[in-house]
Amino acid sequence: MKHVLMAVSGPSGVGKGTIVKTILQRREDVVESVSCTTREPREGEVNGKHYFFISKEEFLRRIDENDFLEYDEHFGNYYGTPKSFVEETLKTKSVIMEIDVVGALNAKKFFPDCVLVMILPPSLEELKNRLVGRGTEGKDEIENRLSRLEYEVSQKDKYDYLIVNDDLETAIADVCKIIDGE
Ligand code: 5GP
Repeated sequence: MKHVLMAVSGPSGVGKGTIVKTILQRREDVVESVSCTTREPREGEVNGKHYFFISKEEFLRRIDENDFLEYDEHFGNYYGTPKSFVEETLKTKSVIMEIDVVGALNAKKFFPDCVLVMILPPSLEELKNRLVGRGTEGKDEIENRLSRLEYEVSQKDKYDYLIVNDDLETAIADVCKIIDGE
């Protein structure tokens, strides 16, 4: 059986984390990609499980060696999906990356077989209202999230599959079908 590299994206609050976590719990033939980062580990984080924690020098060397499917800088640190880890894991299992739209499209560029799945809310309006109505973020943060949401959804035609999460179990089954069918 062929194993799949799948990128799962979708706007914040859409439930993609729950979908991915449930699939990882239920299936032994699917694992999550472990990214490399140059940031310091937080308390409780385990090297090789949450991230591979590596030095900036090593990260830059691996960029030169083409060892990242995609990488980006966040808050002054580098983060990337290591090609070597993904390729080695794909020999025996399927690999899921929960990753933003920019990362997913970059990954597809370097790894055209990567299957792109976007999780969408049943109602975009409702998700927007929820983001605004949570009341935990300031105005700037809300605007930031809304424009990010608009941007992510505007890229949906570049995805291979769109899944509407109006029922969690159906969405999980849909993602599993893609893993098994690809
Ligand atoms: P944190 O330091 O909180 O674990 O992550 C900071 C940011 O880095 C988050 O937005 C997270 O999604 C992003 N990130 C984590 N791993 C990767 C990766 O492999 N590639 C990219 N492009 N971003 C990542």
